[in-house]
Amino acid sequence: MRCPFCGNIDTQVKDSRPAEDHVAIRRRRFCAACGGRFTTYERVQLRDLVVIKSNGKREDFDRDKLERSIRIAMQKRPIEPERIDQMISGIVRRLESMGETDIQSKTIGEIVMESLARIDTVAYVRFASVYKNFQAADDFEDFVQELRPPQPDGE
Ligand SMILES: [Zn+2]
Repeated sequence: MRCPFCGNIDTQVKDSRPAEDHVAIRRRRFCAACGGRFTTYERVQLRDLVVIKSNGKREDFDRDKLERSIRIAMQKRPIEPERIDQMISGIVRRLESMGETDIQSKTIGEIVMESLARIDTVAYVRFASVYKNFQAADDFEDFVQELRPPQPDGE
């Protein structure tokens, strides 16, 4: 694995351990050339997915991109990073299990929102607000109203 800092190809694995409830292997790597340390994850990939964007363009599914958007939504939320990793793996597994190689970006967005809604309402709203690109503030208010968990009588 090439060192992301200096480009040296000959990096060493210092430590390997299961992660995300044994769905992934986490490896700590060390570059002897520059002293850089970095981490890689090894995961099962059932199939190569292609995302069909709303403008019809196709691009390879990129787990890191998905992860970044979810982590942005999760910023400063009291959720264990491990739990977020598990959620992302669960989403990817679902996408891979859909039986199609081509997946509409809309479908991915919906699955992400569904998963976020189960874990953290704030992160869900953040993601949804970006994803759905609400034009009118009123729409957004309605949307947030719908998200509120049912309150017990008299609150
Ligand atoms: Zn290096």
